[in-house]
Amino acid sequence: MKRKTVLITGASRGIGRAAALIFAQNGYDLILNCAHSISELNIFAKELEMKYHIQTLCCGGDVSDYTFVCQMFRDISTFCGGVDVLINNAGITYMGLLSDMSFQDWEHILHTNLTSAFACCKCAIPYMVSQKSGKIINVSSEWGLYGASCEAAYSATKGGLNAFTKALAKELAPSNIQVNAAAFGVIDTDMNLSLSPSERDQLKSEIPAGYFASPKEAAEFLWQLANSPAYLTGQIISFDGGWF
Ligand code: NAP
Repeated sequence: MKRKTVLITGASRGIGRAAALIFAQNGYDLILNCAHSISELNIFAKELEMKYHIQTLCCGGDVSDYTFVCQMFRDISTFCGGVDVLINNAGITYMGLLSDMSFQDWEHILHTNLTSAFACCKCAIPYMVSQKSGKIINVSSEWGLYGASCEAAYSATKGGLNAFTKALAKELAPSNIQVNAAAFGVIDTDMNLSLSPSERDQLKSEIPAGYFASPKEAAEFLWQLANSPAYLTGQIISFDGGWF
């Protein structure tokens, strides 16, 4: 029987890498993407192939670049036909006052966090429609629901991703394709490396669970979403240790 396939963008580190491991452990063939850490991604993919007897395709490139995404999906079509599960995970942050943010930085975060989801969904949907099944999971943030000071642009991209999730779910439900978003609180990844020890302690004290979730915990939640009933669609589901 043909193995199921998942495309995870931003799979070299953090949440995306942990998600790749869980899908590999469960027998999925993987299409893994990242922008910069391509040799690390290739090594990781080979390890997963050997250990779990699956196939992988690594696609190094920038998912904010529509031309690259179209080429990636041509490669996916040759590799396995198309993807059963799409996890739009690649993302960057920007911390600072909006008045100090350049237009280039605004465009960079907007295209990395939001245009990338448009591009990957647009390319993934035709195969899913032909199969009459598919799962799209957008990796979002609590800031997309509540907003964060000094992260206005990041919050806007995630808020946009949430609205995109809800709207696309309505469009695709008749084709039995589910679209949901995980709104993460704080996950202990490189994205939070700029926090000082005292800032980390302050943040932990605000989270009822009292700690930052590990990438593994976040990835387990994405796995649950990929295996959720078809009737669950169009939802922005928080995973934040009771924070909001
Ligand atoms: P991370 O450890 O910094 O990893 C980010 C990943 O995205 C890396 O694999 C990176 O690849 C990739 N990436 C960045 N820009 C890309 C681009 N233009 N094209 C392709 N890949 C790109 O971050 P993370 O914490 O795992 O974050 C993953 C997702 O979770 C993001 O969407 C983030 O907004 C969301 N999130 C995170 C938290 C948190 O607290 N960590 C909270 C809420 C939501 P390279 O290695 O090649 O740079």
